[in-house]
Amino acid sequence: MATILIIGGGIGGLAAALALQQQGETVRVFERAPAFGEVGAGLTVGPNMMHGLAWLGLAPAVLEVATIPDHGGVLDLATAGLLVENARGAAPQAKYGQPYVQVHRADLHGLLAAAVLRNDGDAVALDHCLTGVEQDAHGVVARFANGYTVRGDLLVGADGSRSAVREQLFPGQDPRFAGFVAWRGLVPMDSLPVLTLWPDSAILIAPGRSFARYRVSRGRLLNYAAFINSGDWTEESWSIPSGIDELLAHLPGSHPDVATIIRATPPGGCFKWGLFDRDPLPRWTVGRVTLLGDAAHPMLPFLGQGAAMAVEDAVVLARALAAQPGSPAALELYEATRRDRTAFVLEASRGAVRRFHGTGTGGYTRREHRDAEALGLFTYRPGSAPLGEPGLPAGTAVG
Ligand SMILES: Cc1cc2nc3c(=O)[nH]c(=O)nc-3n(C[C@H](O)[C@H](O)[C@H](O)COP(=O)(O)OP(=O)(O)OC[C@H]3O[C@@H](n4cnc5c(N)ncnc54)[C@H](O)[C@@H]3O)c2cc1C
Repeated sequence: MATILIIGGGIGGLAAALALQQQGETVRVFERAPAFGEVGAGLTVGPNMMHGLAWLGLAPAVLEVATIPDHGGVLDLATAGLLVENARGAAPQAKYGQPYVQVHRADLHGLLAAAVLRNDGDAVALDHCLTGVEQDAHGVVARFANGYTVRGDLLVGADGSRSAVREQLFPGQDPRFAGFVAWRGLVPMDSLPVLTLWPDSAILIAPGRSFARYRVSRGRLLNYAAFINSGDWTEESWSIPSGIDELLAHLPGSHPDVATIIRATPPGGCFKWGLFDRDPLPRWTVGRVTLLGDAAHPMLPFLGQGAAMAVEDAVVLARALAAQPGSPAALELYEATRRDRTAFVLEASRGAVRRFHGTGTGGYTRREHRDAEALGLFTYRPGSAPLGEPGLPAGTAVG
């Protein structure tokens, strides 16, 4: 069996490690952080991602830590009036064979890490920041800032949207500021006054801004994220502490519940960051090196599908390698299966925010509502989708 080097121990890198271990591969994950610690934020896990997690054997454990929203919807930010309702609760399970759930990122990341380490206690090396990749006809060498060097058969860059592996393959293409600044926070539900959080999973929209909120951690925490159109951003981090008043100043005319939620943020618990994205790559595999998750196709968060694409990638990569063990051709097969679907979702995520922030409250109807479900993304099953076929929703032209 091959030894596969994975750079980055985020949700994508760990999902790939687990998927590959289950196919009998030896994996080594190199993460630059000195300790694991996902940021405090929520994550929507649609049925397509749940299918991937089920293939990894994690569905029961995810359900233990998840919240299943009863209802979903798009609301008017000023009045909290319902513009479009989404069927949640038991409906997605009945329709797609897996539920639609919401989790704390750290809970999901912890489940993935524990499963990888249960399979192989030596699978993860922390405090290893990749600086160089070289390959020859027989293998690939990764070099790290701490002086360590390792050789493997194949290498997967799962090192996020500012991927060092991607920079090695395709130098000089930085992500672009997409024109949005985001804020996030987690509020203990028992610190909130009684609010009518209906629907319990919602995005409230107005021209130029939006506010999403849903419960995570089995309903104990309310996750929120606010997005504001902005002409300028220079800072790199996605965890810059923000004052609550600064955020409220960007949400004038919002329904009073929005301020009530934001004001309940624990001290030091509100963060801001600039949203960056990149155009789809025409190719992302070079010989024995490929990319996965945000390293391959970072996307705006307005469809809630970035982590879902990373988990789908992971499952397809493992299946491709099972079909063509240890071979660089397997990486080509993986990429061919994933390229059009992820490019489609990346472009559709840009379209989603144009409609959320651009239509004005009166103009947003079911016709404009092309969310992940309406686009047909929930029907995909990464564990059984045909390899080599683009995985686009029915009726979508390959472009
Ligand atoms: C506001 C917001 C909301 C979102 N909501 C959702 C949602 O609801 N549903 C959804 O599916 N997706 C969502 N996403 C997208 C999702 O978070 C990402 O797509 C997903 O986390 C990508 O995972 P990844 O493992 O590819 O990258 P990352 O999570 O960025 O992980 C990359 C890892 O690589 C490590 N690394 C970086 N450089 C190096 C290096 N040189 N050497 C070694 N290690 C390195 C990093 O430390 C990190 O651990 C959201 C994103 C945002 C910004």
